[in-house]
Amino acid sequence: MRVGIGHDTHRLEAGRPLILGGVRIEHPRGLAGHSDADVVLHAVTDALLGAAGLGDIGDWYPDTDPAFHQCDSAVFLQETLHKLNQSGWCVVNLDVILFAQEPKLGPVKQQVRANLARLLGLAQDAVNVKAKTGEKVGAIGRAEAIACQAAVLIDQRAAPRGA
Ligand code: MG
Repeated sequence: MRVGIGHDTHRLEAGRPLILGGVRIEHPRGLAGHSDADVVLHAVTDALLGAAGLGDIGDWYPDTDPAFHQCDSAVFLQETLHKLNQSGWCVVNLDVILFAQEPKLGPVKQQVRANLARLLGLAQDAVNVKAKTGEKVGAIGRAEAIACQAAVLIDQRAAPRGA
């Protein structure tokens, strides 16, 4: 078994869609970035890469590559999951913390959880999503940015045969 951690931060900006964990959320501002700037999928992808010893998301999907401009970050996650599966790793569970002063994430936590479970092919009880505000302190607390942390456990023994 191996563990991996991931972290990401993106700036909130007017005129951008807000997409968290592949879920589009109605909000006047969204996250700025080269891809769709999905801070959750970036942190989870980094956690998976870290657990497998495969570097980080910038190694595989550099923000200087036009191929990834406005890219759906689910592509990064699912390609990374495929790499792990090909090496015999499967995901045991995922735990995620979202840090956002706004919007209030309580109402969308379960949607994000369900979509992460779907993208990773996991049961919903193997995925957990927690939400924190910035307590009005720092860049998160001033609603300038949204951040995400992810921790993942992967297991080689439980890999499907032939993976
Ligand atoms: Mg990112």
